[in-house]
Amino acid sequence: MSDRDRFRELIEAYVLGALDPEERSAVEAHLAEGCAECSKARDEARWLVSQLAYLAPEAQPSDLLRGRLLETVHAEARAKHARKSSRSVPFWMWAAVAALLVFTLYTSWETVDLRRQIAESIARAQAEIAKRNELQEMLETNIVTDPRSVRIPMASDKKDMPQLEARWHARFGIVVAGQNVPAPSGTRTLQLWLIPKVQNGKPIPSLMLRPDAGGKFMLLVTNPPETMEATKALAITEEPAGGSAQPTTKPIWVGTVGSP
Ligand SMILES: [Zn+2]
Repeated sequence: MSDRDRFRELIEAYVLGALDPEERSAVEAHLAEGCAECSKARDEARWLVSQLAYLAPEAQPSDLLRGRLLETVHAEARAKHARKSSRSVPFWMWAAVAALLVFTLYTSWETVDLRRQIAESIARAQAEIAKRNELQEMLETNIVTDPRSVRIPMASDKKDMPQLEARWHARFGIVVAGQNVPAPSGTRTLQLWLIPKVQNGKPIPSLMLRPDAGGKFMLLVTNPPETMEATKALAITEEPAGGSAQPTTKPIWVGTVGSP
């Protein structure tokens, strides 16, 4: 990875004053060189921090809030070094959650209590995200490795498309996975459909996902909208961002659901 990526990860911590002196001067030197991406990130982070500061108009953010933020940023930084996972949730996401909460509760004058709630909500949001990621990975692994899962190869009649494979576990749900999947253009997305066995049954919409930058596609549906027994096939179409209620394009992949 380039140096630029390394600095980008430090910007939020930099704005919160959570960096070691050494890292801090490195970031400052990098910003002084005029990196547009990092400057933009710095301005956004400053904006967020200014919104958090709104909470206590008469004072600096409380020691508690500041302490929690620093603690969390440090924990996040440690976690980043520990596991370079594509799932690692950026500081930015849960900080945004906290910022939203600030706006929601701003009308209240109980600022001390409010600050406590925000500190707690940040910690809670982070814990929730970590728990959800862990759970999701565990479920994906269970579904893929459990011999009770039904394997559903999903072929494409387009020559340049890789084959996908779905695994459907009666209790845990469906995983659809594939490699080297080309990204749909713009903000369009790939949406999964359950084709019911009943005659003239309309495709039932399920979740959507874009492949990641490396072309990896891994869609987890924990609560399929129909049972395996009542489903004839799985299909994936390309749809506008946000998905559709009924398919608007011809399926790219289709796989017939066998029996367990
Ligand atoms: Zn940069």
